[in-house]
Amino acid sequence: MALHEYECPACGGAMEFNPKTQKIKCPYCNSEFDVKDYVANHNSSSTGEAADEYTNQSTTEDGQQLYIYKCGSCGGEILATESLGSTKCPFCSNNVVVSEKFTGEFKPDYIIPFKTTKEDAMKTYREHVRSKKLVPKVFLDENHIDEIKGVYVPFWLFDATMSFDGTYEGTKTRTWQDSKYVYTETKYYEVKRSGTEDFAFVPVDGSKEMPDDLMESLEPFDHNEMVPFNMGYLAGFLANKYNNPVDAMKPRAMNRIKASIISDFKATISGYASLRPINEGTGIVSSSYKYAMYPVYILNTTWKGENYLFAMNGQSGKFVGNLPLSWTRALKYYIPIAGIATLLAYLVYYFII
Ligand SMILES: [Zn+2]
Ligand SMILES: [Zn+2]
Repeated sequence: MALHEYECPACGGAMEFNPKTQKIKCPYCNSEFDVKDYVANHNSSSTGEAADEYTNQSTTEDGQQLYIYKCGSCGGEILATESLGSTKCPFCSNNVVVSEKFTGEFKPDYIIPFKTTKEDAMKTYREHVRSKKLVPKVFLDENHIDEIKGVYVPFWLFDATMSFDGTYEGTKTRTWQDSKYVYTETKYYEVKRSGTEDFAFVPVDGSKEMPDDLMESLEPFDHNEMVPFNMGYLAGFLANKYNNPVDAMKPRAMNRIKASIISDFKATISGYASLRPINEGTGIVSSSYKYAMYPVYILNTTWKGENYLFAMNGQSGKFVGNLPLSWTRALKYYIPIAGIATLLAYLVYYFII
């Protein structure tokens, strides 16, 4: 497997995709090119080899085989998992791409380029942590914040035409009274809805490492800014090829579409006091899929044996995260207050007797 490098045609420096200008830029001489005009122009002769099983780094903690690539710029050995396709050389910061991970059957149809920068992600993270006063200090450590990574996450995008055939029992009630009784009249209606609805670009992530619910909470991504895939957008970012195949992920997408069509058709029924579904049948009339890369910033923190994740949509800036409370910091905040309250209670008690 060959490594592609993003060499600057002017000075030989390592080029990077710039989310602000949407161009590929050399940080050394400021040369800038349209991504579609720039072709990863330096093909290193290095081929990846499975890491020796006798080295202590031949597999990751979860048992993934590791591969060694030789950096064409400095000769350093780059260790990568089978699915990692775009990375930085840890020794010389050269941006490299394992081209086989993004060509042939693995070539994505589309990519949503990063629009926010790593600095934007660091700022959002800092503000988020600061807004929660009782977060442990380690979460605000600048060295730690610098570990935020821009990752292109592989996604399957499903288009589908879905049919719906539903029957509901609706009721309407009327109440009146005379001198003796209160009367309630309930009328029952059979309500029917049927038809088809088209869905486009319903995303399901194709990466085993990314929690599906976390990825869904980063939506929506704006597909109007999706462009045909080009390896130039990967320069300077991490990228994984999919390792959850499309067939395994299709049911999740179809379930999302099914939930949408049921709620869409149900929303067209109004004017009843109550509505009870008798039958809500759905069927896939047709479906197709595309393969795309989505931009996500990620920061993973392990604290006291627990994992905490901060993630930001690299296009819209929307973020999600979970943060722990530090009880030592919480105690600092609350003990004086509790102490004063106890003292006041004591004084009140003292004055009363
Ligand atoms: Zn240059
Ligand atoms: Zn290197």
